[in-house]
Formats: sequence, C-alpha cells, structure tokens
Amino acid sequence: MTEGKLLISLDTEIAWGRVGHSDQSQLGALYQKTKEVIRRLIELFDKYDIPVTWAVVGRLVDKRNANDQAIRGMMAEFYPGIEPNEYEGDFYSFPDLMDLLAGSTSKPEVTSHSYSHIVYGDADATLAETDLSEAGEVLKQHQLSPATFIFPRNSIDHLEAVKAAGFSHYRRKGQSWLDRIPGKLRQVSSLLDILLPIAPEVGKASLHQTGLIGVPGGLLFRKSNLGLRKIVPVSALKRKALLGLKKAVRKREIFHLWFHPFNFAYDSENHFKEFEKVLQKADELRKSGELEILTVNRVKIA
Ligand SMILES: [Zn+2]
Repeated sequence: MTEGKLLISLDTEIAWGRVGHSDQSQLGALYQKTKEVIRRLIELFDKYDIPVTWAVVGRLVDKRNANDQAIRGMMAEFYPGIEPNEYEGDFYSFPDLMDLLAGSTSKPEVTSHSYSHIVYGDADATLAETDLSEAGEVLKQHQLSPATFIFPRNSIDHLEAVKAAGFSHYRRKGQSWLDRIPGKLRQVSSLLDILLPIAPEVGKASLHQTGLIGVPGGLLFRKSNLGLRKIVPVSALKRKALLGLKKAVRKREIFHLWFHPFNFAYDSENHFKEFEKVLQKADELRKSGELEILTVNRVKIA
C-alpha cells in the first residue's frame, strides 16, 4: 500500500437492528428521524465526494409486497413468539432508499446487511442460506450485484454460504487492546479508551479460506444513548477518528469508520458537526496524496 486508506461503512437498518429487544418500543422518535438522517448523510458525502459503503437490510427495500410469508417464516424460526406487528410498519420499510442512493453523486457502494437482520452466529445453515438468497433477490430487484456483506451485529458465520451467494468482501472485527481486558472491566476500559487520546486500530485486509476478503472494522462512530458511555461527547469520537486518520497515513493501512444512520438520530446536530470535521480532514489528506478514500468492495489484498 502506498498510502493510508479510509473506509466508511453504514449498517442501514432503521429498526431492524433491535427486533426482539425490550427497549424497541421506546426508540420510536429516533427511528422516526432516521430517514431524514439518511438523506442528510447522502448530501454530506456528496458535498465532499466521499464514496462510502451502504449496507442495507434487504427487507427495508424489498419491492415484493407478496413476500410476507418468507419473512414471517424466518422471523418465527429465529425469534420464536414474536408477532409480525413487532417488525412491520414504517420503521421497517424505506422503499425510496435505493432511489436516493442511486441519485448520490459520490459513487457509493450499495450492498447488503442481510435480508432480515437475523444474527448469523445463532442461525443454522438453512436459515442463513434462506436469508442470503432473499438478500440476493433484493439486490437483483435494484440491478445490483452482491459485493460486500456486513453481518448483523458483526456476528460472523456461514462464510462459505456468503461466498456462494456471490459476495466478495465482508467486514470483520478489528483488533483492539480491549479484547484482552476481562469482561467486568471492559465497560470502564472502553470508556477510558474513548476519552483518552488513544488512536483506534488500523489494519490490513486478509484473505479468508473461502476466498472472501475480510476487511477490518475500526471505530464505531456513535455517541451512545445508553449506559456509562452516555457521558462521552461526540467531540471525543471526532478526536479519535482524527487520530485514526493520522495512524492510517503513517502506517499506510486501513482505518475503517462505521456506524448505523440510526445513531445520528440521537444528539443529531453534534454528530453531524463533528463527523463533518472528520470528512474535511480526510478530504484534505486525500488532496495531498496521503490518503485514499474507497468503498469496502474496492479493497484489495496488499
Ligand atoms: Zn445491523
């Protein structure tokens, strides 16, 4: 690699990420706002001409009205006892999204974050294959081919099936010093990690035995609305992201920022303000030839 690389991937799911969670019904106001956040993010990436990877939950944009049996069967198997009214309605559907992304001038990669957001590590092979096949159908409806696959909740499993479904890349877990900290201390340590000027991990892509290219994830750019991390301001994330850019340039490796558009519905103005500063810096480094900004599917093994 001759220069550092910045990747940005967005797990685009609105309410699909928290199906079955007890707090789901309290998040309506944030879900309500997420479609507007998505529109603003597209504008922001276009403003700086920054290509990003939008990994979309297939069911959000499925044009097949008659496909209810498929999703109901999958959901009943994965979440026994859950009723269709817990995953249907406005927060689970965004038919205009693919047109918005197709109109983006910054050449995004539009790809899959599964069909139903089931957790692959907890799904059997048949269910994972069904989900992949439905996800592929949705991409086809929108004249897209499978490229990067982003696993729901980063639960990486059934990689052979992902490869067989035509995908080429996936986001894998990045390394972190926090992995070596015992469970009980991890919450406090992760808080310190964000608050102290510690650069996030950067890394290289690796080839999985299936032939898939695994691209390391780096920094989850979101202010938490829960728990201890609620006290961390978005500016601390910005500072960390800037350190990540610097480290990627110095080591000529990949810095991978990711989040859910939903995250920017919380403390929205601060998220947009601080995130834009990261994009401005990345654009500057790109102009000086020190940084390349690319979508996940364009990463090659160095
Ligand atoms: Zn997700």
